[in-house]
Amino acid sequence: EVSTGTLPGWDRVDEIVQEAHARYVSERGGRVADYIPVLAEVDPELFGLAVIEVGGGLHDAGDALHPFSIQSISKMFVYALAIQEHGHEKVRDIVGVNNTGLAFNSVIAMELNGGHPMNPMVNAGAIATTALMPGATAVEQWERVREGLSAFAGRPLSLDGVVYASEAETNDRNRALGRLLRSYGRLDGDPDEIVDVYTRQCALNVTAHDLAVMGATLADGGVNPVTGERVVSADVCRDTLAVVASSGLYERSGDWLFEIGLPAKSGVAGGIVAVAPGKGAAAGFSPRLDDAGNSVRSQMAIGHLSRSLGLNLFASA
Ligand code: GLN
Repeated sequence: EVSTGTLPGWDRVDEIVQEAHARYVSERGGRVADYIPVLAEVDPELFGLAVIEVGGGLHDAGDALHPFSIQSISKMFVYALAIQEHGHEKVRDIVGVNNTGLAFNSVIAMELNGGHPMNPMVNAGAIATTALMPGATAVEQWERVREGLSAFAGRPLSLDGVVYASEAETNDRNRALGRLLRSYGRLDGDPDEIVDVYTRQCALNVTAHDLAVMGATLADGGVNPVTGERVVSADVCRDTLAVVASSGLYERSGDWLFEIGLPAKSGVAGGIVAVAPGKGAAAGFSPRLDDAGNSVRSQMAIGHLSRSLGLNLFASA
């Protein structure tokens, strides 16, 4: 394990990550997601943590290498790819940058806002963002998403076919959002095909370790600290992290920012990644969720890491 001093107390990061794991290992709050049938079958005791420093230091604890579907955490990385492709202004016009104050799969949020999806971290905005991926066909757009997210992770990510099939069979609500987006002129192309690409992107398998590498790439101005590859520009990272700070944990984003002070994105399989710009990223995996769909134990453990490592962006000392 190499540590290169990008985090405060860097000589103790390994110990702090192990300590955060031990501290919450018996936490049982929350419930696993069951609206995607196969997610209800996961072992709820799984618990992994990872911290990656922009200087390359790697720190894992518990089930940090256990695979699970990335789900909504894909939204922040596809959003980064969309801004890289189309620029700050265009993507902002199409998907917005403000919190909805409503659940991630809300239809009302879009209806109340004149057919605008509000932000790319909820399903409506994420589907509109996926539609911005370059490619002549949905298959090419999906390849672009898979390759882009793999570059963030620094290894080829693959689809969990069982999760994909389970969600594809039950995602009527997302298909309704796709149709609504098209009716408001906010999505080009076949909405069912775009929703299919979105469903696939959510079913990409990652580990907590992967999520920390992906987050650390955004912390590092777009350069993957493990592979050294530039994935997106520093401006794209700044834009992405601003939106993640205001909407990454849906209607709980304000509570999270107030308590922990870091941009973070969650997914319903139990992953969360929090990014400390210029320093690194911390990721957790634990399947039990709060009622907004955010992993309870990952929030607690990352909160502990943020405090112990002094990562709160708003703290002057
Ligand atoms: N694939 C899930 C959905 O669209 C993602 C939701 C989430 O992780 N919050 O419902």
